[in-house]
Parts: sequence; C-alpha cells; structure tokens
Amino acid sequence: MIRYNLQCRKAHQFEAWFRDSGLYDAQVAAGELTCPVCGSKQVEKAVMAPSISTGKRREKAKAEAEQAAKVLKGLREMRQQVEANCDYVGPSFAEEARKIHYGESEQRNIYGETDAKEAETLKEEGVAVQRIPWVPLENS
Ligand SMILES: [Zn+2]
Repeated sequence: MIRYNLQCRKAHQFEAWFRDSGLYDAQVAAGELTCPVCGSKQVEKAVMAPSISTGKRREKAKAEAEQAAKVLKGLREMRQQVEANCDYVGPSFAEEARKIHYGESEQRNIYGETDAKEAETLKEEGVAVQRIPWVPLENS
C-alpha cells in the first residue's frame, strides 16, 4: 500500500491509501478522487514522497520464514526416509559403497559419513552417491 497526502484546490489536506501508484493516477484521471471536506475533484498530491506501509514487508518476511520451514521440513523427511530405508555404515561409507558397487558386498542402500573429496572420487568411479544436507530432527 502507498499512502499519499492529498490536497484539494481549497487546500484541504487529507490522506488516501492506494494499492499502487498506478491506481492513484487512474482514480485521478477518472475523477473518482474527491476531497472529503468540500467534495472537490481538483485533487493533487500535497507531498511527493509516498510512504510504504510495513505490512507488505512483514508479509514478505513471513512468506520467507514459511518457505524456509518448508525446506527444512522436506530435508527432515528426506533424512527420515534415508534412516528408514538405508543401512547406516558410519565413517566407512566410502569403503562400503565401493564394495557394493563392485559386488563384494550385499546390494543395498547405505548411508554414512564421507567428505566432499571422497564423494567426488566415488562418483568418478561410477558409484551412485548423493550428498544431502543432514538436518537435525525436531526433537533432537
Ligand atoms: Zn477540499
């Protein structure tokens, strides 16, 4: 919302709120803006600087927070899926992933810890690995 301080030809000043500056122009052009004191349609902006209401900013912050919460929820669900469907092999992830890849270990889904460099090496070897952000669960 944009607030304008308006003034009629008789110098009555009043405030009016508009969804945007284009709407103000449209209403003036259509003669829909009248002075609340004398009813004059000869209305113009008394002060050029519009003030922006903080409502929109608050809405934006709220939307951003909701979006972040949604992403976090998605990551938590992904972690729960991984924990439910994969074997945890801890720090020996790279070694175990390789064994599975080369048929030396039972074919299954695993998860564990490895560093970025090791994960890249595995990928180059053709091992299907994926690094995912590991977020803390709500109650931990
Ligand atoms: Zn007036």
